[in-house]
Amino acid sequence: MNDGDRMAEVDPVRLGPQSQFKFKCHPGIECFTQCCRDINIILTPYDIIRLKQRLGLSSEEFLALYTEPQLLEKTGLPVITLKFLKEEDQAGDSKLCPFVRENGCLVYDDRPTTCRYYPLGVASLSHKEDADGDEFYFYVHEPHCLGFKADKLWSVKEWRKDQGVDIHDKINAEWTDLLVRKRSFPPNMQLTEQTKNMFFLVSYNLDKFREFVFESSFLNHYAIEESILKRIKADDIELLKFGLKWLKWLLFKEGDFKRIPAAEAADKQKEE
Ligand code: SF4
Ligand code: SF4
Repeated sequence: MNDGDRMAEVDPVRLGPQSQFKFKCHPGIECFTQCCRDINIILTPYDIIRLKQRLGLSSEEFLALYTEPQLLEKTGLPVITLKFLKEEDQAGDSKLCPFVRENGCLVYDDRPTTCRYYPLGVASLSHKEDADGDEFYFYVHEPHCLGFKADKLWSVKEWRKDQGVDIHDKINAEWTDLLVRKRSFPPNMQLTEQTKNMFFLVSYNLDKFREFVFESSFLNHYAIEESILKRIKADDIELLKFGLKWLKWLLFKEGDFKRIPAAEAADKQKEE
């Protein structure tokens, strides 16, 4: 379930959907849950929706209890990672995922995207320096992981389907696209703090973003259809899709986000 911090052990081979590998993981294997310690797991927006719903928390509560902020290299964009905890009564610096238990993952059905991909890593969710264009996968060969000793053969495509990662990738697609495209910006193109804050709000703190849409002056500035407002009020995934569309408009001036003419004219006047 690792993709980030142990890059020295990562196999540099770029894998595509048809690439094949041998792997099997199951309870009872000697290394069971060894992969759930001392790792860096970047959380995606859909991971947070699933986990906060699973735990009955608001996005803000989930962020405060279980995450840490990081800056994604080459983008300057804020990302969040699962906050690992030092093992109680254990010597050494080993840190454990807050959801790991002796018999496995407490939130297995709602586990994050990175955990589903393991033993593969996905470029867009890693700190890989060359993750700057096409999406690709790579092996995370960790010495303790015995799964590679098995004979069960998978293609990357089959593995993704088996691990239920397709739905995660589908919902996160626009967000991943923002990360990958931002990575290819020239370094002198900096984002304003306000834009970074908006990226954080939409990506990770959806409940607060909903408040922002409905309780700030947002709707005085943008013309949003009633049917959309109804959907995003009730549904986190719809709200996320809406937010990502808005971010794309903010970051790249792409899409058909409609400003309210009076607000647009007032902004232009301020700029003059
Ligand atoms: S085989 Fe690998 S993925 Fe499975 S429990 Fe062991 S270390 Fe984790
Ligand atoms: S979320 Fe579950 S699968 Fe992922 S590292 Fe934590 S315990 Fe392991």
